[in-house]
Amino acid sequence: MLFGGIEAGGTKFVCAVGDRDGNIMERIQIPTTKPTETIGKVHDFFKEFKLNAIGLGSFGPIDINPLSDTYGYITSTPKQEWRNFPFVNTLKELFQVPIRFTTDVNAAALGESIVGAAKGLDSCFYMTIGTGIGAGAVVQGKILEGVTHPEMGHILVRRHPEDHFKGNCLYHSDCFEGIAAGPAIEARWGEKGNKLAENEEVWKLEGYYIAQALMNYILILSPKKIILGGGVMNQKQIFTHVHFYLNQLLNDYVSLPEILENYIVSPGLNDRSGIVGSLILAIQAIEEIK
Ligand code: ADP
Ligand code: ZN
Repeated sequence: MLFGGIEAGGTKFVCAVGDRDGNIMERIQIPTTKPTETIGKVHDFFKEFKLNAIGLGSFGPIDINPLSDTYGYITSTPKQEWRNFPFVNTLKELFQVPIRFTTDVNAAALGESIVGAAKGLDSCFYMTIGTGIGAGAVVQGKILEGVTHPEMGHILVRRHPEDHFKGNCLYHSDCFEGIAAGPAIEARWGEKGNKLAENEEVWKLEGYYIAQALMNYILILSPKKIILGGGVMNQKQIFTHVHFYLNQLLNDYVSLPEILENYIVSPGLNDRSGIVGSLILAIQAIEEIK
């Protein structure tokens, strides 16, 4: 059997063909331009294979409610051309195979939970801190979804008393994403994150906000592993600040694994969490039918 995985991101798509064990046989990257153009290239790549199912982890927001008229659509994205794009239906028409659809970050959480840093555990929390902040979770072996998918990057955190940056989330100004994603760091400090490596204050403040967010996720989801990826987390010194503030905030109220370095980690699959997770979604689509 052959499975197709699509990690659909706002800048690029990664498509892969894999086998039942999740081994990737072929892989391609396609720039995210217009739907007709990008999906045309996805079609060109996959049509050479006889796929049994496709797993799709997409940027969003997306409609994941199977009872909704717009199930499988990308909905209110700021990317005009992709707004209200019937993603699942378009792929169904092209490939005529079962398709499993979730967010890019849920797919990444799934990939990490099966073969990545949370392998062998039935729960994990995955967050990417990059152009935006997105998070997905696996809880008791299943991807976490509800009325819609979680949007955990947009939670509210307490401001640092000395941080006067007003925040740049288009919807909420100073939500977590609005004050802690890559573009917020750049707007606050006047330079891109990768140029600020030596400025300890930047990463201390970043750790201060990430720790607050993690406290909330820990109190609500109690994940067995926390995985932090995305461009901003290339600054590994953030982890130390996160540990410090998290310990301070939790104040021994919840007992976490003793060694936080082994609990809050980088992705085990590096930048492949999303595409591997998408392939696993495809495999699950077939297992569900049987
Ligand atoms: P995306 O979120 O678009 O998929 P990334 O995860 O690479 O892509 O995130 C891009 C963001 O991360 C940008 O805001 C960039 O400035 C920031 N970034 C990338 N590399 C680094 C780095 N080494 N240190 C700090 N910030 C970085
Ligand atoms: Zn927001």
